[in-house]
Amino acid sequence: MKYYSLNKQSPDVDFKEATIKGQAPDKGLYFPHTIPVHEQAFFDNIEQYSNEEIAFRLIQPYVAGTIPDDALRNIVKETINFSIPLVPVNEHIFSLELFHGPTLAFKDVGARFMSRCLGYFAKERREKVVVLVATSGDTGGAVAHGFYDVPGVEVVILYPSGKVSSVQEKQLTTLGKNIHALEVTGTFDDCQQMVKQAFVDEELTKKIFLTSANSINVARWLPQQFYYVLAWKQWADKKNPPVISVPSGNFGNICAGLLAHISGLPVKHFIAACNANAVVPSFLASGEYQPKKAIATISNAMDVGNPSNFVRILELFHHKLGDLRNVLTGYSISDDETRSVLKEVYQQYNYLPDPHGAVGYLALERYLRQHTNAKGMFLETAHPVKFYDVVEPVIGETVPVPDAIKEQLKLAKQSSLIAPDYDALKATLLDRY
Ligand SMILES: *Cc1c(COP(=O)(O)O)cnc(C)c1O
Repeated sequence: MKYYSLNKQSPDVDFKEATIKGQAPDKGLYFPHTIPVHEQAFFDNIEQYSNEEIAFRLIQPYVAGTIPDDALRNIVKETINFSIPLVPVNEHIFSLELFHGPTLAFKDVGARFMSRCLGYFAKERREKVVVLVATSGDTGGAVAHGFYDVPGVEVVILYPSGKVSSVQEKQLTTLGKNIHALEVTGTFDDCQQMVKQAFVDEELTKKIFLTSANSINVARWLPQQFYYVLAWKQWADKKNPPVISVPSGNFGNICAGLLAHISGLPVKHFIAACNANAVVPSFLASGEYQPKKAIATISNAMDVGNPSNFVRILELFHHKLGDLRNVLTGYSISDDETRSVLKEVYQQYNYLPDPHGAVGYLALERYLRQHTNAKGMFLETAHPVKFYDVVEPVIGETVPVPDAIKEQLKLAKQSSLIAPDYDALKATLLDRY
């Protein structure tokens, strides 16, 4: 498989180069030349396949030629070695729980896959790789855990000071070893801008072998298809495919779902569930794309004012707004609505979503109100305990801490404060590596 840059000013690359580079030299996102379409029988008989086999079949065409099949099977197996259950919330709505991985959020899937691919490629080179990543919350923890103690790989994480939850902050600042956290006194967009600038700084990239682990990296984007198909495997009513609501920020997750759908996965409709950062829902309604500054909300992993993966969605639909609208509807949910639906779902159905899942739930419910024969699922992108500071006052109860993170919460934060300024980042990197 070859990948081209969406800015069309850089040469084509294979999966290995796309993974290592992260972003094309012309600052474009990499995009596959062809989208494989699987046989109808694969989706019709999905229950007959193991989870590993499903994941392998989905990813193999994208990777072929750069990682041998047996090594890829191994990577895939390690990527999804935790459960991804589809849990009924009520008669019409299911929750696809993506939080059973090591950092209790869906980004574990992409981060685990990418870190293992990069580990495979690093073995072939002798240079130290520096993974540079901006996070609005969960990416950092997932990437930190994915790469922790991987030989030859150093990880530098930028996160907006005071704008991630305390659990998230612990997950990205307490590991130590090859994992370094930079606490930026600005927004997530500042962090992302600084990282983007580093990748196009030739002076820096000549000295340091830099790679990204953001959701723009194809090795993080593509494996996110896995759980959409694993959800289909668990979907009982195969004659009535689900409406899928995806809490969205940078739009990598939903873009992977749309990709799986184009490859043949039956889905009735997709919902882009957003908080007050409503660039995409506004675009779908008006046809005008107007990036904004990110607004802080209680679903902070979705506080993105200019979602980087959205160009991939446009490309998937050949920039035809009408075609996109047939498949995708957007909703913007306020913090007040998020709090009240969270409480309502907990009290009525005894199911506790996190704030991002609550946005997904309410957006889905709105859509289903107008499409009464349909049923759907929302992607529960994080465990509610990661946002206990938001959830507990809303439900008036404490959220039990899963054993998996109890130990981590006791560790001391290790981070360096840095101004939202590219030169500060550059100096830090040059000093360290
Ligand atoms: C990252 C994240 C999102 C947004 O996912 P995108 O792929 O950036 O759209 C939603 N919920 C949680 C909990 C996240 O960590």
